[in-house]
Amino acid sequence: MIVGLPGELLGFPWARELERRLEAAFPGARIRRAPARAPAAPPLSEGDACYPYKRMIRSALGLLAESDALVLPRLLRLDGHLMCPNFRALPDIVALNWRRLHGEEPPMAAPAVEVADGRDAEAAFEAVIRELRRLPGGRRAEAARAQPPRPAPGTAPPRAEDGRRRAIALVGHPYILSTPALHKGVPDLVRRAGFRVVTPEGLPFRTLDRLARDRDYYAKVLYWRGARECLGAFRHFTEVRPAAGLIYLIAFNCGVDALLRLELAALHKDLARRVPFMVLVVDEHTQHEHVATRVEAFLDIVDGTAHA
Ligand code: SF4
Repeated sequence: MIVGLPGELLGFPWARELERRLEAAFPGARIRRAPARAPAAPPLSEGDACYPYKRMIRSALGLLAESDALVLPRLLRLDGHLMCPNFRALPDIVALNWRRLHGEEPPMAAPAVEVADGRDAEAAFEAVIRELRRLPGGRRAEAARAQPPRPAPGTAPPRAEDGRRRAIALVGHPYILSTPALHKGVPDLVRRAGFRVVTPEGLPFRTLDRLARDRDYYAKVLYWRGARECLGAFRHFTEVRPAAGLIYLIAFNCGVDALLRLELAALHKDLARRVPFMVLVVDEHTQHEHVATRVEAFLDIVDGTAHA
């Protein structure tokens, strides 16, 4: 049995743990994170959705076509905070498109997920496993030789590439930072210029949330999980472990980012001027040359700051 689990969701620790649980519960299954063929735009309009959301829809449909079942949890709340409403509708949009394309129900495990603590997390793993078990092939994949879950990788410290080089922090939604089509090669551009890249990956969400809590009165209480993660990461890389520069990668048409970019710009002006800061908007139509020019100019400023 081949089970699809869109890689864009694996930026969330709960989803990474879900992948391990699925491997253990369905030893006869192979988990595929991305379709082999480049996902195409779906027949039903994606409207004015952000590019990350379009990618998620396309990846899910591509995986459905190449797998026996798709795991697409309806993420409502993670770590006690609301997810962007797009995640709520994701399984519906994918199912609508699949029905339009194939005239049948998609083989999909998509229970609603609301996680505030460990007990919720366990209940949500169970709900996904239960739904997958009911799909054709689920029982067979489960009956294969049972195996314990592979050990959790634990919380890795932010990736240190070469401690002697100065660090540029990249902040943004985890799926943007981990998907080349979404981050548009920014990490490579930074590395090629002789800097190392640090991201919030590996920093526990509760640490970032605590940092966000100290500042989120600035405009209003930010209740979206993604906003809290980015605000906490901004404070970490400007105050706790200041980087040489910080690039905030945001998605065109993202309401969460639209609010937060103002908040971060104000915070930067008041508290973090010594760390050069740039907002880079990424979209489906963003040209590589445009990104390269912006990053190059920003790194010149970082160099200028260091030599001033
Ligand atoms: S948080 Fe923003 S980038 Fe992420 S899915 Fe929602 S609108 Fe898109």
